[in-house]
Amino acid sequence: MKKVKYLILGGGPSGLTLAHSLIDRGVPQDQVVLLEKEPTVGGLCRSQQVDGAPLDIGGGHFLDVRKTDVLDFLFRFMPREEWNSFDRISRIRLRGQEIDHPLESNLWQFSKSDQVDYLESIARSGCIRGEPMPEKFADWVTWKLGDRIAEEYMLPYNRKIWSMDPAKLGTYWLHKLPDVSFRETLRSCLEGSPFGALPAHGTFLYPKNHGYGEVWRRMGDALGDSLVTDCPVQSIDLATRTVNDHWQAETIISTIPWTLWPGFCDIPREVSKAIKQLSVVAIDVEYVPETMSNPSHWIYEPDEAISHHRYLLRSNFCTNARGYWTETNAIRSRPTTGFRHHNEFAYPVNTLGKLEAVAHVLAWAAGNGVLGIGRWGKWEHMNSDIAVAEAMGEAARITSEITNK
Ligand SMILES: Cc1cc2nc3c(=O)[nH]c(=O)nc-3n(C[C@H](O)[C@H](O)[C@H](O)COP(=O)(O)OP(=O)(O)OC[C@H]3O[C@@H](n4cnc5c(N)ncnc54)[C@H](O)[C@@H]3O)c2cc1C
Repeated sequence: MKKVKYLILGGGPSGLTLAHSLIDRGVPQDQVVLLEKEPTVGGLCRSQQVDGAPLDIGGGHFLDVRKTDVLDFLFRFMPREEWNSFDRISRIRLRGQEIDHPLESNLWQFSKSDQVDYLESIARSGCIRGEPMPEKFADWVTWKLGDRIAEEYMLPYNRKIWSMDPAKLGTYWLHKLPDVSFRETLRSCLEGSPFGALPAHGTFLYPKNHGYGEVWRRMGDALGDSLVTDCPVQSIDLATRTVNDHWQAETIISTIPWTLWPGFCDIPREVSKAIKQLSVVAIDVEYVPETMSNPSHWIYEPDEAISHHRYLLRSNFCTNARGYWTETNAIRSRPTTGFRHHNEFAYPVNTLGKLEAVAHVLAWAAGNGVLGIGRWGKWEHMNSDIAVAEAMGEAARITSEITNK
């Protein structure tokens, strides 16, 4: 039996950052252990060489960091000079052409008659007419953007990515979508140029000579003996906080999906019920060797007759790479003979009732000396920079609690 102060489950960005941040704050390295199921760390941010160049097997990953402490932390493992900077080019395929994202800032790229069509529909929307904001995502889309954008883009695209009825999604996560007002949309059409809020990753960094996984791989290497790979969590004794009958901890920090927990230990009925409410989308990433003649870094595909929902043109952001990859909700995937990576846990789904379910699970876990952080601990769409920021904050909180005791 190995006894440690902190046992971290999962070696994605959240677990890796937490391990380093605890050690940075003075916790002896032999008191921090991270268990990772796979042979390599990085979680959804891992990369693999495919057809002579890196491919991000968890989907398209770009670094857009607002916080300097997060950036400084990442540059410790991969210095700034090892990253290229890009001005984002992302497009949406609609009405037989490609329009820059976000659509509401770029309707001016359509013909005049298409612009009138979309503007008229937005002008009739519930949001403009002063109707109260709906609670269901599907109703919100039409309320906010009008029925044309809803029916031609937002609803089909969301049906593809989630493979579920958008009426089951809540609206509490919509601050993540670009918020462009009708006035800004009108102005962009009149001026013939984009106007309004820029989406995330307006500019982004991507490694010059590697895939996105490299920074996390180096972070794992720097953990030395604190990192145990090829070690899937299989059992947890909550009374003694012992994992796999081998690792005993004062505190367990879980970054792995709660939906796996019923396979590890006995869970009270009410907590099991909450866990059953957490839904997840699996994504298949598939490589296509043909290089597209197109300047975009990525393209959104709302056409429901096509299985994938996004193209990632790696030839436009990976050095010396050809080809592109696609992202598809695994339920919609078709048989392939080419390279495909299946991500069983890709998107936590923002269903109605999720926030209450997660709060219930976290409260039960905390009562058992287990903290939940990261994409799966919080069941939240956090980008990797946010996962890093959260884990750094959690390390500060845990260590200051100890100092104050
Ligand atoms: C398609 C897609 C595109 C994205 N694009 C971007 C982007 O452009 N920019 C960006 O910053 N972020 C992006 N993200 C988000 C980014 O992937 C996450 O923020 C990040 O991976 C969260 O890290 P995490 O450690 O919380 O979770 P994960 O990366 O999922 O890590 C969890 C880890 O737990 C391990 N694990 C699971 N089960 C067990 C077990 N039983 N025992 C031990 N270990 C286990 C897994 O193997 C994994 O290593 C994207 C995500 C997706 C799906």
